Amino acid sequence: RAYLDNNATTPTDPRVVNEMLPYFSEKFGNASSRNHAYGWEAKEAVDHAREQVAELIGANPSEIIFTSGATESNNLALKGLLNKGDHFITCATEHKAILDPAESLAAQGIDVKVLSVQPAGLLEINAFKNAISEHTRLVSIMMANNETGCIQPVKELSAIIHSNQGLFHSDATQAVGKTPVDVNELGIDLMSFSSHKMYGPKGIGALYIRKGTKVGSIIEGGGHERGIRSGTLNVPAIVGFGKACELCKQEMQEAEKIKSLRDKLEQSLLSIEGTQLNGVIENRLPNVTNIAFTGVDGERLLLSLNGLAVSQGSACTSAVVEPSHVLKAMGIPDQLANSSLRFSLGRFTTEDEIDFAIQKVTAAVNKLSA
Ligand code: PLP
Repeated sequence: RAYLDNNATTPTDPRVVNEMLPYFSEKFGNASSRNHAYGWEAKEAVDHAREQVAELIGANPSEIIFTSGATESNNLALKGLLNKGDHFITCATEHKAILDPAESLAAQGIDVKVLSVQPAGLLEINAFKNAISEHTRLVSIMMANNETGCIQPVKELSAIIHSNQGLFHSDATQAVGKTPVDVNELGIDLMSFSSHKMYGPKGIGALYIRKGTKVGSIIEGGGHERGIRSGTLNVPAIVGFGKACELCKQEMQEAEKIKSLRDKLEQSLLSIEGTQLNGVIENRLPNVTNIAFTGVDGERLLLSLNGLAVSQGSACTSAVVEPSHVLKAMGIPDQLANSSLRFSLGRFTTEDEIDFAIQKVTAAVNKLSA
């Protein structure tokens, strides 16, 4: 068996699980309980995790709001900032967790512009400049694409929007933990990221909000997280997320090993006749490759890859079987998009798994295209 679907989710690192365990049992306190030691202990753990999370992205702990994951962080950034009459710019290759809230905001009177991308998946800077107006309040452009790994020129884009008095949000779910991300260096005002993409538990994530940026709440109640996100804090998950961030910072050099395994896989698969790479070779995440197998039905291919976990398009929306909107936006014809698979590696990927994948895919493609 081989698990090459780390962009869908990663296994929780055993060191993270260990760190979390006491917070389910003996250290079960509510971080908001102010008048006893159970509460203080939980609050201390949350404070420490907030520091670990902030440290990974070069932020101040007070700029981190814990959420249930990147979907919620994206919703919070967009809905918490935009008001009727505001202009908002995003792009066609974003995750549905940006595109869907953008669509509902458009229905509520926000002026939404969804930019197209170049065939390599990158935004065209001039088109971006031309889209900006004096009403542009927010821009949201993802740091790295979940399907192709393509990295957008975030630093350049944020500088442009800042010179026009707008704010820059980035969905950095696939970038944080895999590649160095520093919110100050990149000029980011708001950033979404998620624990389960970086060896932490599911159901926890964060929205980075630069000091001084006013964001309204979408979940109201007890006033947790500075009133921006109410609800009792999920202490074990937060502790795990913090540990996962610490480990990613310590082990950032693991990207080299992951990249060399990815390159081995990619080169072998591209040597099969009729294959091509979707997206760019340069400027992408080290752990992912997206390959089109011309003339082979992607669904049949997936079904014949017994024991190999990979995905077709985006796993997050795979309840709906239609060509990936990301590949479509890159100008890849539907048929080729449907013949494409995403392979995403991670910290625990072994060379044996890569050899298994190469052997499985080669055999299946040969059989199906015969
Ligand atoms: N944004 C991107 C780019 C993603 O890849 C994903 C998950 O696939 C999400 C957002 C959603 O993240 P979460 O599962 O934490 O809600």
